[in-house]
Amino acid sequence: MTDLRPAPVVASGATTPALALHDVRRSYGRGAGTVTALDGVSLEVPARTWTAVMGPSGSGKSTLLHVAAGLERADQGQVWLAGHDLTRASDQMLTRLRRSEIGFCFQSFNLMGALTAAQNVALPLRLGGRHVDKARVREVLASVGLADRARHRPRELSGGQQQRVAIARALVTEPAVLFADEPTGALDTASARSVLTMLRNLVDQRGQTIAMVTHDPAAAARADTVVFLADGRIVDRLERPDAATVAARLAALEG
Ligand code: ADP
Repeated sequence: MTDLRPAPVVASGATTPALALHDVRRSYGRGAGTVTALDGVSLEVPARTWTAVMGPSGSGKSTLLHVAAGLERADQGQVWLAGHDLTRASDQMLTRLRRSEIGFCFQSFNLMGALTAAQNVALPLRLGGRHVDKARVREVLASVGLADRARHRPRELSGGQQQRVAIARALVTEPAVLFADEPTGALDTASARSVLTMLRNLVDQRGQTIAMVTHDPAAAARADTVVFLADGRIVDRLERPDAATVAARLAALEG
């Protein structure tokens, strides 16, 4: 089938990446027990593109996502997002950036069961002390195809719909980067496919930037760029690969 996606914006001197990591290092523990999770990672994610991160278990994917999203601090290096180096930002600034420029969605959705879809989506605005614009909440829910589910509670929604609510919640503040940690890991194949198509549309039609960790070659193949981690280092990178190529590369790394 012909791929009609527009070519992604390529980072150049004229384009500031939405996210940039320079020689990022992060270890856990001390002395003989030290584990190096990230061993000098440099990565640029151009604005309005989607990057997937893959690699064997323990290769540093979660650490990379958490450090890039300001959920954990790097030991060394720089993490640039929305004009700030997260590694030097004060705790107060990090909190502000997490509430305004960073969206995060997880494999397990993490929705509040007692709240409706609309109330879940409005939550980041409330937590940030911002005015809850109901039209904005409706618009974001519509953008993930859930205009008619605003008053439903999570238990009344399918897994795929719950993940859409979680993505709408991550997008309501119009973050510079949407971080997704295994967003399709808990979904059946059909729901996963429709969530991935929605993410693709967010990039192509709304100019959203996405950084995603996944184990699923079919999910990675929807991204513009796939980077592979092994032992805390980026060891390979594929541009708009097909799922079979991704799967073969991952299998080779998993040995
Ligand atoms: P992945 O997401 O690819 O499975 P992680 O980023 O979770 O990899 O982990 C990378 C390495 O860092 C692993 O060896 C893991 O055991 C170690 N690690 C991650 N988080 C911690 C932690 N909080 N304390 C100690 N070691 C950790």
